[in-house]
Amino acid sequence: METKLRLAGVIRESIVDGPGWRLVVFAQGCPHNCNGCQNPQTHNFIDGYDSTVENILNAVKENPLLSGITLSGGEPFSQAKHLAVLAREVHSIGLNVMAYTGWSFEQLYAGANEQNGWLELLSEVDWLVDGKFEIENKTLSLKFRGSSNQRIIDVKKSLSNGLAVEIEL
Ligand code: SF4
Repeated sequence: METKLRLAGVIRESIVDGPGWRLVVFAQGCPHNCNGCQNPQTHNFIDGYDSTVENILNAVKENPLLSGITLSGGEPFSQAKHLAVLAREVHSIGLNVMAYTGWSFEQLYAGANEQNGWLELLSEVDWLVDGKFEIENKTLSLKFRGSSNQRIIDVKKSLSNGLAVEIEL
């Protein structure tokens, strides 16, 4: 059975959304409403288009240059269960997974439950860029982040320690 995704778009090759060449998946729908968001068209949960994990995986497999995928948005953790399936498949072919979220690592870790699939997705993410975009803290000097409150989290270490462990990529 196909695993459905609701997407705002896909970039098949990017070098600015994480280390190396990456395919970027933009989830449609975001509850955070950050002031100054660059992608306001991704906020509602109705627009965008239907895709599937299988479609994205095929695109990943077609490009031997890729080192991984990046889940962006929108809010990837609003469709965490299905994106966890994608991330697991991407790991199974030896590539890595980076994800953006408007929630903090602590919020996702404490708020994870059977329904929202947050832990399932966290368990398949290597690096998490967390926190809302804060226009008053906007910066161009931090790699892969839009504002200085955002962190790059080593998710595997953070899950085993039970607290956020930052990493620089
Ligand atoms: S979390 Fe990201 S997509 Fe959502 S409103 Fe904030 S900056 Fe925009």
